Amino acid sequence: MALLAGVIRRLDEAVVNRIAAGEVIQRPANAIKEMLENCLDAKATSIQVTVKDGGLKLIQIQDNGCGIRKEDLDIVCERFTTSKLQTFEDLASISTYGFRGEALASISHVAHVTITSKTADGKCAFRANYSDGKLKSSPKPCAGNQGTQITVEDLFYNIATRRKALKNPSEEYAKILDIVSRYAVHNSGVSFSVKKQGETLADVRTLSNATTVDNIRSIFGNAVSRELIEVGCEDETLAFKMKGYVTNANYSVKKCIFLLFINHRLVESIALRKAIETVYAAYLPKNTHPFLYISLEIAPQNVDVNVHPTKHEVHFLHEDSILERVQQHIESKLLGSNSSRMYFTQTLLPGITASSTDTVKTANSSVGQGGDKVYAHQMVRTDSRAQKLDAFLQPLHKPETSGLAAVAPEDSPKNQSCKATILQDVEMEECTDLNLAAEAEEIPERSMESQPRPLEASPARKRQRTDGDVEMEEDVRQDMTAACTPRRRIINLTSVLTLQEEISNAAHASLQEMLREHSFVGCVNPQWALVQYKTKLYLLNTTKLSQEMFYQILIYDFGNLGVLRLSEPAPLYDLAMLALENAESGWTEDDGPKEGLAEYIADFLTKKNEMLKDYFSLEIDEKGNLTGLPLLIDNYVPPLEGLPMFVLRLATEVNWDEEKECFESLSKECAMFYSIRKQYIMEDSDLTTNQAEDSAAATRPWKWTVEHVLYKAFRTHLLPPKNFTENGNILQLANLPDLYKVFERC
Ligand code: ADP
Ligand code: MG
Repeated sequence: MALLAGVIRRLDEAVVNRIAAGEVIQRPANAIKEMLENCLDAKATSIQVTVKDGGLKLIQIQDNGCGIRKEDLDIVCERFTTSKLQTFEDLASISTYGFRGEALASISHVAHVTITSKTADGKCAFRANYSDGKLKSSPKPCAGNQGTQITVEDLFYNIATRRKALKNPSEEYAKILDIVSRYAVHNSGVSFSVKKQGETLADVRTLSNATTVDNIRSIFGNAVSRELIEVGCEDETLAFKMKGYVTNANYSVKKCIFLLFINHRLVESIALRKAIETVYAAYLPKNTHPFLYISLEIAPQNVDVNVHPTKHEVHFLHEDSILERVQQHIESKLLGSNSSRMYFTQTLLPGITASSTDTVKTANSSVGQGGDKVYAHQMVRTDSRAQKLDAFLQPLHKPETSGLAAVAPEDSPKNQSCKATILQDVEMEECTDLNLAAEAEEIPERSMESQPRPLEASPARKRQRTDGDVEMEEDVRQDMTAACTPRRRIINLTSVLTLQEEISNAAHASLQEMLREHSFVGCVNPQWALVQYKTKLYLLNTTKLSQEMFYQILIYDFGNLGVLRLSEPAPLYDLAMLALENAESGWTEDDGPKEGLAEYIADFLTKKNEMLKDYFSLEIDEKGNLTGLPLLIDNYVPPLEGLPMFVLRLATEVNWDEEKECFESLSKECAMFYSIRKQYIMEDSDLTTNQAEDSAAATRPWKWTVEHVLYKAFRTHLLPPKNFTENGNILQLANLPDLYKVFERC
């Protein structure tokens, strides 16, 4: 059988064009990209895209650009007709997207195209229909605004295979949104919108007066836009310029979003993407990626603009060097953006949630537990004597005196009002301790020697000691409040027992564990301090914690409290007057003369003196002088500036009618007075630190008190209520393993 040679025939021109068109326009999004570029070439400032069935049924693009002259409408859809290029040399300096005159021709070979266009000097608009690159009938005049509207219907109506391959309109629509979004970000100053036909709301919409960041925000969302860093660099020798916006280390997403424009063309460069992602790998959690918008301008002679419309992947001269420069620049920007890094605090719950860190052991606790390997990043400072925050701030003033037994120097301006020097009282009703008076006098000296271990040598003990002070001493070192001393009065009042029960019922076990085991890190100010527990860092409201603790001590040690004796009795009348003169008291003329009120307050409290003394160790003599305050924890004197207001509030804010409410509100008022407060301490602190070196009478710096008195007492005396996890009094700032995720590769 003879082989028959095939007859070679010239293909029909329409077939050639259709094959070529199918290559250029592979899907609706390609067509839209080409048409968008035409709009931008025509200097449009408003581009509206309407789509039906993912662009397969209809694509309509309306712009307000220069329009197409009527005489050009005849050939506009023919292959290789363009208004943008005349000679091959022009290619080197081309500044428009289009130049080959292929797009409209291609589209018209695979769809029905209608163009309506009006130029600035045209009297009216003209409309023309195209098929296979040819005008179907001469353009018809019609009404229309300046600019061009191109309608593409039934895309691929004549290529059945392509049509079948694109059967998912929503996938096509997503691609369209993606393309328009990218162009919108790159072309701030031009407003874009994309919507489905028949819908009123646009799915992508930008405004012509919006900035690039505005556009990123409206398209990609706030989560991206608030973490953006502006980037920009240029290099004359490499003849390139780069600018754009990239996200910082706070932002990460599963799939990299990379908007790359080279010489304003939307392109792809795997090499550049990889180069930039390498930089981010050091900052972002594994398998997460940044958002990147980069616009590169490369000298036209160094980049081949003559790429085929479907070839997005670009290469250019000096590619490696340019990539390296871009890498370096982005890295430097990422490092510099550290200041903007935010930690979102969470109201915390130590150990409640089953987080991975629950299994983390501290370095110490794992000792002797055999199999539990502790990784370096899980090791935490567990000794509170180890380096603290202060070490990084300034050399610590070594307190010269204990300041506790005899505090509040008489010349302290803050205390002139009540002239109260407080001595820790060493005497109890049944006290038999003969050494106490002497002990009190020894205070300054003793506290000097005891300076490195100040609390342990705390001079005065408030409880009766039965046999052998010497033996007692050891115990007392650990237990600082009345709660732990022998011979307590048993309190059987239902009201008090109920209040105690309420406290213990509200207690939060894991918070308590945290407080018991914490390592103190440092004071932020008198109100806030940082502590560490296991691998977590917490910010604690010392004011609120101390207030709660003092309340609990008043309730638990009800009827068993020691006394802080005032060296000089303070007249209640004077204190009440001081309080009424303070604007905080809210006194108005309607309340009657201050003197009368002060007298009433002094009388009223004096009448209650037995109960106040017996239950609260609040001592008032028969003449209406305050002589003693409850000793709630050793080495702590309440901020006396609050004393006048405390006296006023005792008379006015306490519910004296109901037993339980009375004890509760009285304890609350007292706790508020005792809590450490920013406004009082701040001024004092300057005073104390300045004087600490030369004045033996100076008090302890507040930082010392916060760390060694209050936080020490929190370990054992505070049952943190559950609501502390919600009200911001305890905040978890950071978790070490999480931080390592950020820093481990730095
Ligand atoms: P190219 O963009 O490569 O020139 P196209 O086929 O995309 O080729 O467009 C052909 C010509 O049609 C363009 O050169 C331009 O003169 C004209 N044109 C197309 N779209 C528009 C438009 N939206 N506004 C004004 N002119 C347009
Ligand atoms: Mg074009």
